[in-house]
Amino acid sequence: MSSILAQRPALMRSPVWFFDLDNTLHNASHAIFPAVNVNMNRYIARVLEAKSLPFDADVVNALRYDYWQRYGTTLMGMVRHHQVDPTHFLHEAHAFDDLASMVRTERGLLHMLKRLPGRKILLTNAPQKYARAMLRELGITRQFARHVHVEQMVVHRILRPKPSRSYLRKLLAHEGVSARRCVLVEDTLVNLKSAKAVGMRTVWLTQFLAASYGVARLPSYVDVKVKSVRRLAAAVSRLR
Ligand SMILES: [Mg+2]
Repeated sequence: MSSILAQRPALMRSPVWFFDLDNTLHNASHAIFPAVNVNMNRYIARVLEAKSLPFDADVVNALRYDYWQRYGTTLMGMVRHHQVDPTHFLHEAHAFDDLASMVRTERGLLHMLKRLPGRKILLTNAPQKYARAMLRELGITRQFARHVHVEQMVVHRILRPKPSRSYLRKLLAHEGVSARRCVLVEDTLVNLKSAKAVGMRTVWLTQFLAASYGVARLPSYVDVKVKSVRRLAAAVSRLR
């Protein structure tokens, strides 16, 4: 065996896994995201109305989507352009009557995470209250050594959720691990791009994305594409 091949597994001997939550550990497209979108639209309409700005349903919907595209989160657009209180916005966006009935995920998720070697950290742009409730519903709260929610993603007192590279660097420094030992598992490509830029390994997890969501070629910043958490243990050997 060549020395390079011999070294390869050692690189990932004790990986530190960073897991996204929505559409990575559960199917947010099923009911959560549609409900979040309705809640956000209601909030955006209230903000525009308060400023006496003209709007209709299409304007509101387009604004929510445009901010998400431009800043990675609708939240950041609302903070930047409308000076909303981020805590209040996130709280309202994630207010659900019956979370339990909205949860869908793959069978055996707990067992898959348990079997996966390495330290696991939750890294979600969702607010703490919702993320905690969701992890409880999924029965996987204790699988994560640490939970990082959007409220904690602050650099120099400014909110910097994913895909912020400066926050990722701060997080790695805080964890005291080199980027090359860390793997981000995500459904959102722009977040994987940032992770790769700061030196992390990247796994694109796709099972909860719409079937129509296709890319012609795997982006260069994606190290491995897998469908399920079940495939992560095998994916480690493909991470260079
Ligand atoms: Mg996600």
